[in-house]
Amino acid sequence: PETITVQELAQRMSERSADVVKTLMRMGVMATINQAIDPDTAELVVTEMGHRPKRVAEGDVETALTESVDAPETMLPRPPVVTIMGHVDHGKTSLLDALRATDVAAHEAGGITQHIGAYQVTLPSGQKITFLDTPGHEAFTAMRARGAKVTDIVVLVVAADDGVMPQTKEAIAHSKAAGVPIIIAINKMDKAGADPNRVRTELLQDEIQVEQLGGDVQSIEVSATKKMNLDKLEEAILLQSEVLELKANPDRAADGVVVEAQLDPGRGSVATVLVQRGTLKVGDVLVAGAVWGRVRRLVDDRGNAVDSAGPAFPVEILGLDGTPQAGDEFHVMESEARAREVADFRARRDRQAQLARAAGGRGTLEEMIK
Ligand code: GDP
Ligand code: MG
Repeated sequence: PETITVQELAQRMSERSADVVKTLMRMGVMATINQAIDPDTAELVVTEMGHRPKRVAEGDVETALTESVDAPETMLPRPPVVTIMGHVDHGKTSLLDALRATDVAAHEAGGITQHIGAYQVTLPSGQKITFLDTPGHEAFTAMRARGAKVTDIVVLVVAADDGVMPQTKEAIAHSKAAGVPIIIAINKMDKAGADPNRVRTELLQDEIQVEQLGGDVQSIEVSATKKMNLDKLEEAILLQSEVLELKANPDRAADGVVVEAQLDPGRGSVATVLVQRGTLKVGDVLVAGAVWGRVRRLVDDRGNAVDSAGPAFPVEILGLDGTPQAGDEFHVMESEARAREVADFRARRDRQAQLARAAGGRGTLEEMIK
């Protein structure tokens, strides 16, 4: 899953490089023979020249774009993105609400809350943590199924009076499969039946060895309702993120992931995205899955209009021509024509895939990618 140079593409099609350059020019892409082009463009030009493209892997364009030269010195520390998971009723929602209330900026603004699927907390130290506030498991699996890596750290909530339950184990399995480090939040420590030692021991069954038992997984005893040890949990998150050395180049065209999206009767298509690289600005043209648009308005998690959003910053985008899906990646493009082209191309491909499925898997997509 890489970019391909114009020359190599020409060789694979047994066409002259100059003809590929000309075709690219007609499509509005200026490229020299040795220049690398992204897989979506490659696919378009191949089709345009009457050949049948063959894709090695899905999501190539994302890889191509994300791998496009971020020099080490452009990489700056960014906040961690955290997902809270755990068994039903163990306190995920309560903990998300309690953590959100620790935001120093929210206090100043009078604690206005607006649900946009993700929020960022600023700690008294000025450090920031981004929390994904989506129905944990579904969003996480949906995004992972689509190949998007959004979460840096999973906080696994386990109720101290209930212990490890089926969805706890499921969450551990998901996190491990995704290679995401886990921090254990042993919740409901205020309750009479709280038994944190039992929780820590039970976790061994799923090969989670907490620090207290000689392992390297942090576990913090908290109470979401009594707001106990939330600062310790946040410290644990920051410590884990230091280990991960999370960095991104804020000074480039933005890309990232759609966290959730819906059609709002009053505002049109509204997508909450998490910027992963670069800085997203009002006026940017972007493609998100099979949808494109020019950013008309950016709204932060407190309902304020903002001009831009950098790495790990969650924002709502208004101005898209349709509603993308959770887990779709977005990319800022150099022109409207190009964004429309990629979105149209993907929409066509999605329709063909649908038709192919409807026809029992014998359709055009199979032929196209054979
Ligand atoms: P979720 O299903 O994981 O999102 O769990 P909720 O946040 O909805 O919590 C389930 C129930 O547990 C609610 O009645 C909460 O009030 C309660 N709860 C959550 N955290 C705590 C806690 O720290 N202490 C106590 N005593 N109850 C809690
Ligand atoms: Mg809940």
